[in-house]
Amino acid sequence: VKERLQTLAEVPAVTPDGVSLTLAANISSYKELQAAMRNGAEGVGLFRTEFLYMDRDHFPSEEEQFSVYKAVAEKLGGKSLIIRTLDIGGDKQLDYYEMPTEENPFLGFRAIRFSLDRKDLFKIQLRAILRASVYGDVHIMYPLIASVEEFRKANEVLEEARRELGAEGQPYNANIKVGIMIEVPAAVAIADLLAEEVAFFSIGTNDLIQFTLAVDRMNEKISHLYEPFHPAVLRMLRSVVNAAHKRGIPVNVCGELAGDVCALPIWLGLGIDELSLSAQAILPVKESMLRTKASESRMLLDELFKFRTAGEVRARAERFHAERL
Ligand code: PEP
Ligand code: MG
Repeated sequence: VKERLQTLAEVPAVTPDGVSLTLAANISSYKELQAAMRNGAEGVGLFRTEFLYMDRDHFPSEEEQFSVYKAVAEKLGGKSLIIRTLDIGGDKQLDYYEMPTEENPFLGFRAIRFSLDRKDLFKIQLRAILRASVYGDVHIMYPLIASVEEFRKANEVLEEARRELGAEGQPYNANIKVGIMIEVPAAVAIADLLAEEVAFFSIGTNDLIQFTLAVDRMNEKISHLYEPFHPAVLRMLRSVVNAAHKRGIPVNVCGELAGDVCALPIWLGLGIDELSLSAQAILPVKESMLRTKASESRMLLDELFKFRTAGEVRARAERFHAERL
């Protein structure tokens, strides 16, 4: 099976009725990029930079970060690279920095909230990303955005980083695209407003499902309630895509659900622009794509929206997948 799948690495990801969907990779390191590229990744849709901060005993310097971002950008050779700014907190801690003890860490001091509190550290990361932007097709993405203000505040720090680099004569791409993760229900509700200001959306289904269903993604006692095929989740996804496409910006999906072959017709039916997958998921999803018409996916999606329960949605999506094996 593995060898048969491997032959698909170089095959374009296009449905039998000619619809293409970019299959990019989620990575945390240069090493993971190599594995993803062997599986035919067409870019990086999510570079989780926290591991650069976790595998050490101090905050990584601008130079340390720059050299990693540059290496990844160069290895991609012009394919798109979305670098997500630090998403520390929640389940991810740093040995060398004391984070507050919190009742609800996933709802707490993490991601963009941390970066906007520690603008000094945030600016170091943004400078490193900007400097790397001349070595490839680099984009910036902010995690856990819940309001327009947060996006603007983050951009103020970015603006400062640009001004500094400009004054120092350091090159960077002045047209770098800046997008956000859609992973908080508030961001879904104001997706129309956010879409007026950002260059792209990337839906983080891991957090979005946990917050939409109020089900802690780490709590095994309630893991049966963590239901990606819940009708509420489907409706969230649809409203994000509608808001984005109405204003002409692309929507990617980068949570684990992107790699579930049974969810593929949802992406094709909604007209998602790019999936970002773990390296192992790229080839199985591509194999499914080669067998799944976008036109049939759209019809399936109409059916899925009529079901009232997650069980029915899931069962129908699974049957659709099984029919195409
Ligand atoms: C997500 O929330 O779906 C996501 C991709 O981000 P992370 O899993 O790193 O929180
Ligand atoms: Mg997340």
